[in-house]
Amino acid sequence: MFVRDALSGRTVAYSSSRSKRPHKPKTCPFCPGRERLTPPSSFELPATADSGGRGSVRMLGAEGLHSVSRWSVRVFPNAFPVAWGKAGRHEVIVETPRHAELFEDFSEAQLALLFEAFQDRFAALSRGKSVNYVLLFKNFGDKSGASIAHEHSQIVAFPFVPDAVAAEIGNTQALDADLKLPAVLENRFFKAVCPKASMFPYQVRVLAKEKKARLEDFSVEQGVALLALLQSVIRKVKTAQGVADYTLVWHAAPKGRRLRFHVDVLPRKSVWGGIELGAGVSVNYKMPREALRELRKA
Ligand SMILES: [Zn+2]
Repeated sequence: MFVRDALSGRTVAYSSSRSKRPHKPKTCPFCPGRERLTPPSSFELPATADSGGRGSVRMLGAEGLHSVSRWSVRVFPNAFPVAWGKAGRHEVIVETPRHAELFEDFSEAQLALLFEAFQDRFAALSRGKSVNYVLLFKNFGDKSGASIAHEHSQIVAFPFVPDAVAAEIGNTQALDADLKLPAVLENRFFKAVCPKASMFPYQVRVLAKEKKARLEDFSVEQGVALLALLQSVIRKVKTAQGVADYTLVWHAAPKGRRLRFHVDVLPRKSVWGGIELGAGVSVNYKMPREALRELRKA
């Protein structure tokens, strides 16, 4: 249930099931062979020979040599969703079959599969009746709120356009200005910058150079270029802030609206306190120009 606070205008999502989430379970429910610990798959990509990457486990079975991992990317409904009802869908995207493999170490083949899964789920959730926005995000590390270490993203369908996205739609020219900032890193299709008003130390925004608005507007080549750039940015952020915790937020445009596609990398070392919560003002000890210099060197 969503409730809008008449006083602050902020939206609250009530979800009692969230309290039942396992915190760091001893047995990882996202590993291959443990599919029964989660709801049935809504989408799966089969394991391929070249998606093995590092640390792929193979064993000799009855039918000969086969991979223990039967899938390379697996998606299923979140057992503890924040959304519900006809419009609400909340899915978990397990990004790799290999428990300890970090996102920044994924092979290019795995990145292509992951992007295919992201595109499919974006399209699938967007098609839902009374769905007005689809948010893809990722939490990594304790400080981000992640309860399971195995690399995964989440995707949530909203029956309304969330406040943070609505605000950006009204200020799209600010994203054009961001694109003119000096690059931490860039490739043909995307540019990573330190936003002028960074909420967190070492915050990075990765923007599409072309005015594309939605995930389905990108080719697989462009998707891999985006994910590869994010791999480099995350490596740098982890080095610069000294802890691994981060949140990724993918901002695509709602249906029929314009918004330059971008992904915000939010390093999660700092904890928000009274000034952030009481005044809505982020306190950041790292100026973006210093963050830029350090991230380039990291
Ligand atoms: Zn696992």
